[in-house]
Amino acid sequence: MLTGRVAAFYGPGKPMRINEYEVPEAEPGALVVKMSVANVCGSDLHQWRGEFDVEKFGRPYPQILGHEMTGTIHQLGEGVTRDTAGQPLQLGDRVVWRYFYPCGTCRACLKRITRACPNARTYLTKSCDESPHFYGAFGDYYYVRPGAALFKVPDELSDTMVAGVNCALSQVVGGMQLAGVKMGESVVIQGAGGLGVYATAAARELGAAQVIVIDSIPERLELARGFGADATVDIEEFPDADMRVRRVLDLTDNWGADVVAELVGHPRVVNEGLRMLGRTGRYLEIGNINPGLTYELDPSTLVFGNRSILGMVYYEAEHLQQALDLMRRTRNTYPWHKVVSHTFPLEQINEAFVAADQGKVTRAAIVP
Ligand SMILES: [Zn+2]
Ligand SMILES: [Zn+2]
Repeated sequence: MLTGRVAAFYGPGKPMRINEYEVPEAEPGALVVKMSVANVCGSDLHQWRGEFDVEKFGRPYPQILGHEMTGTIHQLGEGVTRDTAGQPLQLGDRVVWRYFYPCGTCRACLKRITRACPNARTYLTKSCDESPHFYGAFGDYYYVRPGAALFKVPDELSDTMVAGVNCALSQVVGGMQLAGVKMGESVVIQGAGGLGVYATAAARELGAAQVIVIDSIPERLELARGFGADATVDIEEFPDADMRVRRVLDLTDNWGADVVAELVGHPRVVNEGLRMLGRTGRYLEIGNINPGLTYELDPSTLVFGNRSILGMVYYEAEHLQQALDLMRRTRNTYPWHKVVSHTFPLEQINEAFVAADQGKVTRAAIVP
């Protein structure tokens, strides 16, 4: 009997433990993937800290965190012969996949906005004691359910480069398009973590004339410049919000940005970001995933400026393909290989979470 390890999460504040389960057989349409790299995403940290509403989402413990990942095909279920772009699949192929499964029979799916499907999520709703066990990324294997969007990884890209594709990069590739970034526009990125530096490249590639990135950690700002930021605003240097807003106005001929993207994950930055928007500007909300945390808003600033706020969680399958293509095309332009800054073996997952929580690493990754 083939078994595999997982890092089992028993709830916030409790150390994860290594459990071992039988590796399942792939049902028709499904795949079993042998994990290569799994990143610690910001939303994993929110769960680990206990910032999600347990009542709302449900939390059967133990469960496996992690959803930003890549691996190789260990077993192909009956009928799985090609990826979502039509490329033939074989055992051992490197793949990335969408970690959620739109149902196809709800109003969001009907409108083809599958990222809004309320039935898409499985990875947080099942205990890993339940078969097929491998619901999350932090383990030796992953069970990809039938019908998942899945793409072969181009040979030019390394595992650590692509590990962030199926969450962070797809999210901002989709997000920047939702915000309608156009050639010649100014874009402000709040937060230079994994999402922020990826968003910088996405805005650049969509034709933004100027990308301005805000963060407090010099190494992250340097990485953002590598990803195409024209200007960076160091919070240590501009310690209050008024100064930062003034700085963005100075950099945009006193007009303000066309798009501001919130990739910090705290509501305290939202008003500041809205004040950086010029008329007709769009505020893209991606990072704030903590139910119950709020901020005060004067909605007349939206009305008088014809400004809007757009929220986005998840992404469409095409964004995953676009993200892979973007990375392949620009592999020599941007330092994609630097986003995962630290790797840890599975047994050190608790240390990895502490390091990521302290914010000193752009992305911590588990290499099982
Ligand atoms: Zn994520
Ligand atoms: Zn649906």
